[in-house]
Amino acid sequence: MDFRDTEQEAAFRAEVRAWLRETLTDAWFDMSDPGPRDPDRDEELRRWWQRTLHDSGWAGLTWPVEYGGRGGTLVQQVIFNEEAARARAPEPINIIGMYMAGPTILAWGTEEHKRRYLPPLLSGEEIWCQGFSEPDAGSDLNVRMRAVRDGDDYVVTGQKVWTSYGHLADYCILVTRSDPDAPKYTGFTYLLADMAAEGVSVRPLVQITGQAEFNEIFFDDVRIPVANRLGDEGQGWQVAMTTLLHERGTLGASLQVGSRITLDRLVDLIGKLGVADDPAVRERIAGFQLDVEALRLTNLRAITKMERGLPGPEGSMSKLLWERVQQAMGEYAMELLGTAGQVLEGESGVDEGRWAQTYLRGRGHSIEAGTTEILKNIIAERVLGLPRSR
Ligand SMILES: Cc1cc2nc3c(=O)[nH]c(=O)nc-3n(C[C@H](O)[C@H](O)[C@H](O)COP(=O)(O)OP(=O)(O)OC[C@H]3O[C@@H](n4cnc5c(N)ncnc54)[C@H](O)[C@@H]3O)c2cc1C
Repeated sequence: MDFRDTEQEAAFRAEVRAWLRETLTDAWFDMSDPGPRDPDRDEELRRWWQRTLHDSGWAGLTWPVEYGGRGGTLVQQVIFNEEAARARAPEPINIIGMYMAGPTILAWGTEEHKRRYLPPLLSGEEIWCQGFSEPDAGSDLNVRMRAVRDGDDYVVTGQKVWTSYGHLADYCILVTRSDPDAPKYTGFTYLLADMAAEGVSVRPLVQITGQAEFNEIFFDDVRIPVANRLGDEGQGWQVAMTTLLHERGTLGASLQVGSRITLDRLVDLIGKLGVADDPAVRERIAGFQLDVEALRLTNLRAITKMERGLPGPEGSMSKLLWERVQQAMGEYAMELLGTAGQVLEGESGVDEGRWAQTYLRGRGHSIEAGTTEILKNIIAERVLGLPRSR
């Protein structure tokens, strides 16, 4: 792969850069830097960013125009991500929608699904969450939530857990068990669930950061139309695999933005602390720079594969590298800050407690979107071709 921009790519990059410069001078963005630790302000900022991206035609950059996208190329998406990182852009609110639900609907949905769900997903009018994990179903996705066919509906009962954005979501991509007697991966059915339907309840879970970013969700005899099914009855495992590949591939590519921004902020921090000339500090920062650059290049490799179809198992490498570098940068910032790093809020908190937040939130990175051990297994077996571990 040639890493230099072609003439058209350079023109596209200049257009994106100019737009970001114009747009992110808004008072909203100033508020986010060094970052509001108030979840309501954070949500408002991220909703604003989603709407702004959409209104200017940048949301769904690679999606077909007829479903609200821009019809662009993956390389343009990469350029946009790089420039967004440079500009320290916020994260859009509908990340589960844009990077997981949307691509799955594009791959498996009917024409009606695509026209109904994709445009409001991109504009952020409808937020999505992912209902895969259950109290007894994590990495193995051995779901118990029951879907029983009743005429034109499925009647769905059961519990999901760790549902990010469940408290904000209008829709949920839901893996259910429609045939309890079928062998493990053949009895699943994948549904698009309306979170406002009767019988759905959401209970927030408070994380180590003190914020309630994810939830338990309960379905109690919830009627979901058969028309809201992706794929056939019993084909839910294959549909779910599409979502998971996008979680590690498409979402993974967007996560690179976050790592670049964290590294840039770490560089600002060593300046503020007056340790930027310390050779030991410089060596650590150089190491992070190498990791973040390796992440960018690994993403490019994954994207080359994606241009030929679905994201491949390479997405697991990006995810593994991302969780490691993100956690390591959070830990290093805490080490530099010493006891001051423990102050989460207020004037005495350096950068308004950003680094304690980065450090604490980082613990979840090696669990969400595939645990470290699961990713290592995938890389060993499906990227390196090593024998199966069990
Ligand atoms: C911040 C955060 C956000 C999340 N958001 C969502 C969401 O929006 N929607 C959703 O559905 N879920 C979400 N999850 C849940 C996440 O997908 C699960 O936690 C994850 O799949 C692991 O499942 P588990 O917690 O049940 O752990 P388990 O699968 O029970 O794993 C426990 C331990 O065993 C190890 N292990 C398991 N199987 C193997 C194996 N075969 N080989 C080697 N080691 C193994 C794991 O690596 C881990 O260390 C989120 C989690 C976090 C932390």
